[in-house]
Amino acid sequence: MDTNDKKIIIAIDGYSSSGKSTMAKSLAKAIGYKYVDTGAMYRAVTLYAMRHGMIGANHTVNIPAIEEALHKIDITFTLMPDGTQHTLLNGEDVENLIRQLDLSENVSPVSAIPAVRQNLVRKQQDFGKERGIVMDGRDIGTTVFPDAELKIFVNAPAATRAMRRVKELQEKGVPVSYDKVLANVVSRDRQDETRAESPLRRAEDAVDLDNSNLTLKEQDAILIKLYNDRISC
Ligand code: C5P
Repeated sequence: MDTNDKKIIIAIDGYSSSGKSTMAKSLAKAIGYKYVDTGAMYRAVTLYAMRHGMIGANHTVNIPAIEEALHKIDITFTLMPDGTQHTLLNGEDVENLIRQLDLSENVSPVSAIPAVRQNLVRKQQDFGKERGIVMDGRDIGTTVFPDAELKIFVNAPAATRAMRRVKELQEKGVPVSYDKVLANVVSRDRQDETRAESPLRRAEDAVDLDNSNLTLKEQDAILIKLYNDRISC
């Protein structure tokens, strides 16, 4: 088989705001693969739950109500004319809404609900049925596609990740404080690592990538090399 015909699954997992999405998007574009941001899917479910009063003070979640609502939640992605991918919740473009800090503070408790995970993991596996996909998240290499041909685990110190997130939000015109973002990054990592159902964990066969001191160009070059090495073996 020509190596160009060999479609693989690429799983990119890692900590909050580690640049996984930027990495995954760029790699998918370069090699002509589909890209799925699974964090956006958990964020969209969280937005639905917030809008329907299923999340109370102190981020307490009404688990039975969320479980019951899952069949009413449709999440899709659409490509915008400028080439960016937006998340649709029941047909509504919610790309900006799901990135807000108040939503980020509720997403980990929602993501810890086993029924939510089972529902979204099934959808993610469906997206990757034909392979030729780059998917980023927390459990892609361990739970969604344990047989992915290439697994990458991304990390960088929490302070570096928080600073990046602040810049990203500021560029979108969302005013945020560094301290709040850092607290959110640290708290989400802890919750994601300690939940019972498919916690954030490095797959044993993943390649580690600390991108704290890499330019985007250097990062892209590393990813392309990893991809080329994988499809030629
Ligand atoms: O990747 P992002 O930061 O947008 O993810 C938001 C949240 O969604 C994470 O903090 C985590 O709680 C949850 N998530 C998850 N499993 C994934 C992707 C994201 O639990 N595969």
